[in-house]
Amino acid sequence: MAHIKGMSFFDPHIHMTSRTTDDYQAMADAGIVALIEPAFWLGQPRTGLATFKDYYASLVGWERFRSSQFGIKHYCTIGLNSREANNEALAEEVMELLPLFAYKEGVVGIGEIGFDDQTTAEEKFYRAQLELAKEAHLPVQIHTPHRNKKEGTERSMAIALEHGLDPGMVIVDHNNEETVKSVLDGGFWAAFTIYPFTKMGNERMVEVVRQYGPERIMVNSAADWGISDPLAVPKTAALMVMRGISPEAIRLVTYQNAIDAFAQSGQINVADFATPMVIDQSEKFNGNTILRGGQQPRRDQQSLFIK
Ligand SMILES: [Zn+2]
Repeated sequence: MAHIKGMSFFDPHIHMTSRTTDDYQAMADAGIVALIEPAFWLGQPRTGLATFKDYYASLVGWERFRSSQFGIKHYCTIGLNSREANNEALAEEVMELLPLFAYKEGVVGIGEIGFDDQTTAEEKFYRAQLELAKEAHLPVQIHTPHRNKKEGTERSMAIALEHGLDPGMVIVDHNNEETVKSVLDGGFWAAFTIYPFTKMGNERMVEVVRQYGPERIMVNSAADWGISDPLAVPKTAALMVMRGISPEAIRLVTYQNAIDAFAQSGQINVADFATPMVIDQSEKFNGNTILRGGQQPRRDQQSLFIK
């Protein structure tokens, strides 16, 4: 924490719906001032359209409110994730629902979309959502597959170009050392997810930035309901400080680049999180608060701790 004192972070990929208020508090204490929550897979198949509707509504509603109660500005991306594209009948219905949410305030992109098993159905709905992104003038947040990653990443980029998307409007996520070069060479944004214990750890991330520089690279936690670390961005910044990466490079990959990429949506106003947000935990959202019986709301915006 001493290494990153006074620094601000932007986590452009984190699933807060699956996280606790302790996580929000720890993130705020570590300097995370804003985040993007992509729409994703909840861990088990959904049985109907209504659960998609309620989920998207929570991303632009309750979850944004919950985040605000810890002084963190919450944005989201809206989309049908690749796994769920494989239930074609339901996916068709979801496609009709997406435009109702894509244009809402605080929606900074269509995401996370792309390939999982690289099936025909996944490709069909990936293409349909690229068209929606184009129409809505929104950036695209691409989830690249964990299996056959190299092939899936190349295919995702080729299809985006085929649909006439500007690579500067496309954020390719979950990169590793095998994919980063072609993503950057293609003019796309390269996002890296720091996974504890597996795949892309933050030691490797430091070396990627050392080798490729900070331009168009961003770091995220992708923390969700699985084993993950909501502090992956500040921890990676701290490691970069210790390993001698320049302060400006760290600022770019843990804050500024994500803002530049997603602000193309027209939905990000840096002034909203550049200064500490006023926190009043006695506020309500549709009559509901984050407080439980007997708890005292935090009103002191200077204090790091909930008393
Ligand atoms: Zn995700």
